Amino acid sequence: MASPALLMRVVASAYSVAEKAATIVRNVMAAGDLGIVEKTGANDLQTKADRLVQMSICASLARKFPKVTIIGEEDLPPDDVNEELIEDGHSEEILMKTCPAQYTGIKEEELVIWVDPLDGTKEYTEGLLDHVTVLIGIAYGGKAIAGVINQPYYNYEAGADAVLGRTIWGVLGMGAFGFQLTEAPAGKHIIVTTRSHSSTLVNDCISALNPDSVIRVGGAGNKIIQLIEGKASAYVFASPGCKKWDTCAPEAILHAVGGKITDIHGNSFQYNKEVKHMNSAGVLATLRNYDYYASRIPNTVKQSLVP
Ligand code: AMP
Ligand code: MG
Ligand code: MG
Repeated sequence: MASPALLMRVVASAYSVAEKAATIVRNVMAAGDLGIVEKTGANDLQTKADRLVQMSICASLARKFPKVTIIGEEDLPPDDVNEELIEDGHSEEILMKTCPAQYTGIKEEELVIWVDPLDGTKEYTEGLLDHVTVLIGIAYGGKAIAGVINQPYYNYEAGADAVLGRTIWGVLGMGAFGFQLTEAPAGKHIIVTTRSHSSTLVNDCISALNPDSVIRVGGAGNKIIQLIEGKASAYVFASPGCKKWDTCAPEAILHAVGGKITDIHGNSFQYNKEVKHMNSAGVLATLRNYDYYASRIPNTVKQSLVP
């Protein structure tokens, strides 16, 4: 058998790297010293887990795939990474899958990996642990083509017997795995949005969509999980704040199952290494019925958000 395509080797490694990351996230919380640092303000935090996980993910992937561009959320000094943080394993199951034909010729220098070591940091510091995810998004030709989302505290309220944590992964043209794809209740408009980064514009936009209910939870990764598990019908965030590392892995997984994510104007996101990090014109995502929501975003909201 021919050796596995680069993309499948990267995804298989990212899967194991994300599981190691989840262990670090849980260990830092269990040790009790979060080492919280404010970045731009009290709603933009970094903890010891964000730092250690970014070092772990970036160093582990860079060691195996030295020519891939890896962009992580956190600004860290170029310290030597402790060997204990390195994960060199991979998922055999993923490695055995057939790479979609359009991606078999990809070279290392053509890939960009967007890393959010801990998405939902604010919620992590507040003990809302199942909002937290680790995001590894893989882009080629400016498009999100594969992604891994680890939820370190999945099941944490289900009791001591439940298996804690899970890893969801997907590749465009293959599908997404590690969860049960579920449609949101038909005919109901359930919007999921930010919990800790609201604004008048965010709330005005949601009101204009006249939802049956609104779910306010942390994390971009977590909100995409709400869509693919049928808990919500649209993710609406009419504000800057979300960055490319927040949307890359979620986008790949959502698109792999037929969903759609764009900014509030309907523009798709670009993930080439030169792109600006901020998703200045917000986020609109659905598993189904994208056009219903897109056509109801008020012009006044659109005019307030410059891409
Ligand atoms: P949220 O839905 O509020 O959890 O936001 C999703 C992602 O975007 C998280 O990584 C947040 O940290 C980030 N984000 C959204 N709004 C802001 C903001 N105003 N400042 C900093 N980060 C933000
Ligand atoms: Mg994030
Ligand atoms: Mg983060």
